[in-house]
Amino acid sequence: MRTFSQLGLDEWTSLIGWIVSLGAVLGLALVLRHERRQARSLVERSKELERLSSELLRVNRMKSEFLANVSHELRTPLNAIVGFVDLLREGVYGELAPRQVKPVERIEASANHLRHLVDQVLDLAKMAAGRLEIHTEPVDLRPFVLDVASEIESLVSEKALTLSLVMGAALPRIRTDPTHLRQILVNLLGNAVKYTNEGGIIIRTRLVDSPPSHEPKSPDDRLSYPASPWIGIQVIDTGIGIAPADQSRIFDEFEQVGAGPRGHSAERGTGLGLPISRRLAALIGGMVELQSEVGKGSTFTLWLPVDPND
Ligand code: ADP
Repeated sequence: MRTFSQLGLDEWTSLIGWIVSLGAVLGLALVLRHERRQARSLVERSKELERLSSELLRVNRMKSEFLANVSHELRTPLNAIVGFVDLLREGVYGELAPRQVKPVERIEASANHLRHLVDQVLDLAKMAAGRLEIHTEPVDLRPFVLDVASEIESLVSEKALTLSLVMGAALPRIRTDPTHLRQILVNLLGNAVKYTNEGGIIIRTRLVDSPPSHEPKSPDDRLSYPASPWIGIQVIDTGIGIAPADQSRIFDEFEQVGAGPRGHSAERGTGLGLPISRRLAALIGGMVELQSEVGKGSTFTLWLPVDPND
């Protein structure tokens, strides 16, 4: 038997070679084991993420369905309150004593406010649950916008404001959902009147050749817009305006600028009109854009794609 000191150079070289190869094989085995473990934990983690995301979707759907059901159940008694208060005010149950007039008016304003809020929550819940239907049909924009404008004429003259329309003679006919379009315009016009104390409101239409520049503000906005002509329906007011810091957040649910203490029911808003308008606009393939300057006024533009054949 020979000891290490008796080994020749060749034998040393092959021994070292053996040791190095053994080390390399061992190292490789370790790396492989580590890689396999990592791959296994990645698969497990991605399975867990998948499970969590489908659970989140399920909970979100349940929340929306719960909201939709609750809102629906609230509407029936609220309609009864509003209906009976109406009858009270009309004197169907006898003439109201002078002291009773104001409280009855307050009940009516509060009930109307609550009904409006419930309607808006119901709309939002339906949209979130993907249950808001779209029924498109050809809409002649000129008479349509004139009709919506006539709806707010009385509000405009109550506040001694002016209302003007600047529309091209040949407006395209678009295929859209008229109910959703009307709701967006009524929201924007209602806000323009509410937040303008002097001056007036202009409704203007603009036709452009390509989609307007657009920064997505929410996942709803992340649509790919077709490279067709677009029509912009603008609601321009000379009201209080909106500071740059607030211009994005007012499109989020329940966000209002300087909401302050809750005042009279008839005057206070819900903070849901703009989020609903933005979601509705996305549903019908469009978007709402805002330009505003504090103290000068605001311009809300509803952009809608136009079929080149129209
Ligand atoms: P609200 O029911 O409070 O009007 P909206 O979602 O319609 O709810 O609007 C959110 C907030 O955006 C309003 O509370 C108001 O502060 C601001 N806002 C909306 N439209 C205008 C406007 N035309 N001029 C100034 N501020 C506006």
